[in-house]
Amino acid sequence: IPPTNCPPDSEELGHATWTFLHTTAAYYPVQPTPTQRANMLTLLHSLPVLYPCTHCADDFGEDIKVNAPDVSGRAGLSRWLCERHNQVNRKLGKEIFDCAKTDERWKDGPADGNCD
Ligand code: FAD
Repeated sequence: IPPTNCPPDSEELGHATWTFLHTTAAYYPVQPTPTQRANMLTLLHSLPVLYPCTHCADDFGEDIKVNAPDVSGRAGLSRWLCERHNQVNRKLGKEIFDCAKTDERWKDGPADGNCD
């Protein structure tokens, strides 16, 4: 998505929000403290209340009621978030992302060094 000076539409906001969430999960501690877990839960449970796309927020709220956030550590959180994003992808008819590739996409980059 090219940079503009215009307020974000829901696509741009969504893309930026997923970037923030997946990147935050990729750098979440492997063994979080109780405070770090509590803060992550607060962040995730804030989205259905604050995310400024009401129908997106409502559906996300329903989803995380059924699929409780896994804040146990980096791997669990990254996987949980990938699955939630895929839930939205499914709803929108977008391609399903292979969750085994989450670290490559959001943390390490491809093995060929293309992103180094
Ligand atoms: P995005 O879906 O934004 O994905 C960005 C990048 O993430 C992709 O290019 C890909 O490399 C990677 N990626 C894709 N899937 C995964 C995954 N499962 N795990 C890890 N990485 C992945 N839009 C609506 O129209 N209706 C909605 O109800 C709606 N709900 C949303 C709820 C939330 C909580 C959020 C954050 C966004 C929501 N959106 C919704 C926005 C929507 O998900 C997309 O962000 C938007 O359509 C832009 O899509 P995109 O093609 O740029 O890729």
